Amino acid sequence: MTVVNQSGVPQYNPLESMQRRFDEAKDILGLDEQFANVLRVPDKVVAANIPVTMDDGTIRVFEAYRVVHSVHLGPSKGGIRYSLDVNVDEVKALAAWMTWKCAVVNVPFGGAKGGIKCDPRCLSKGELERITRAYTLSMRHVFGPDKDIPAPDMGTSAQEMAWIVDEFSKISGHNSYAVVTGKPLILGGSLGRVEATGRGVMVSTRSAMAKLGMNPTKTTCVVQGFGNVGSISAKLIAQIGVKIVAISDVTGGYFNEDGIDVEKAIAYVEQSENKTLEGFEGGVKVSNEELLELPCDILVPAAMEDQITPENASRIKAKLIVEGANGPTTAEADHILNEKKILVVPDILANAGGVTVSYFEWVQNRLGYYWTEERVNRRADRVMKQAFDNVYATSEKYSVDMRIAAYIVALDKVASTLKLRGSF
Ligand code: GLU
Repeated sequence: MTVVNQSGVPQYNPLESMQRRFDEAKDILGLDEQFANVLRVPDKVVAANIPVTMDDGTIRVFEAYRVVHSVHLGPSKGGIRYSLDVNVDEVKALAAWMTWKCAVVNVPFGGAKGGIKCDPRCLSKGELERITRAYTLSMRHVFGPDKDIPAPDMGTSAQEMAWIVDEFSKISGHNSYAVVTGKPLILGGSLGRVEATGRGVMVSTRSAMAKLGMNPTKTTCVVQGFGNVGSISAKLIAQIGVKIVAISDVTGGYFNEDGIDVEKAIAYVEQSENKTLEGFEGGVKVSNEELLELPCDILVPAAMEDQITPENASRIKAKLIVEGANGPTTAEADHILNEKKILVVPDILANAGGVTVSYFEWVQNRLGYYWTEERVNRRADRVMKQAFDNVYATSEKYSVDMRIAAYIVALDKVASTLKLRGSF
């Protein structure tokens, strides 16, 4: 049942969306209820209220979470999000998606996610640093190179990871690079990590286009979101010959039938005062709602959760959707897209390039030996291609869409480990 808020706007719960797909995959697999009961809910939910001194001398309290969903395949892994929308159900869903994502790409990690309820755009660099350090201190018993390894997510970047390394190293009394990934290069980061999620989205798009017999030079694509994932996905998809006809960010959508010059748009954002597309003249302005319904062959939602809903799914014109964001489609919208025969490459597969290269970064930190960008990209592309082929074959085997197939692959893997190990 869809819940509406006081203004009548439907509210979706990402945790329910995750659990509905989980239940469907569990029934198809015939998974024993006792294992399903373990994996349907998070292993651990840590909530904290962190007091931070602001630049004006006042003390503010920030709501913060770290949810560990599973540690069955290895230490838990997942980003930290700074956003006003952060809430415990969202973090629980995002943590579970990390478990499934790592399993789909065969990365030996469990899943976790963190979040702090704040608007990073309204905070100074000093305030962000104090919030990040206070959060690290508060989560010091959760984090650890062999326990739980954060990374960037919405609203965070390499800078926050550098502060976490520093704070965690102080606490543990030695340099601890492997406690987070997505770090700056000079602090033990990996070449290729910044581009990794967008690159994986491109590899997934290319693989799906081959299945559908789409010719890149005759194909158009709309990308929603122009942060790290959206902008790099758009750039790399354009590089394989596809025409990007629209992009968007918080300031709205920009549509150009003749094609958006993505590199120009990226340069525009970089030099703009508030780092947005506001005033970009490479396309006509459209609303976010119009953007998703534009005529195009491929739609890449790379902004946030709950964008494709039962309200707009029937009006989507793309033949292929590649989910750069986590949870951009609600569970209720899945069957509408299926009826319309739209191929959806689900988030837990399409955006797994980021965590794949995070794993490579962690391996390099532990080895103390650093790879070339060419090696990182070659290995990540191979992982993404194999994962795509495996999920596609599973969807054919069980006659299900690629989302349920990805859940089947992931659940089967994590549940088999749980059965072998016992209770941990
Ligand atoms: N935040 C990214 C994601 O949602 C990356 C997580 C990681 O590398 O640990 O996949």
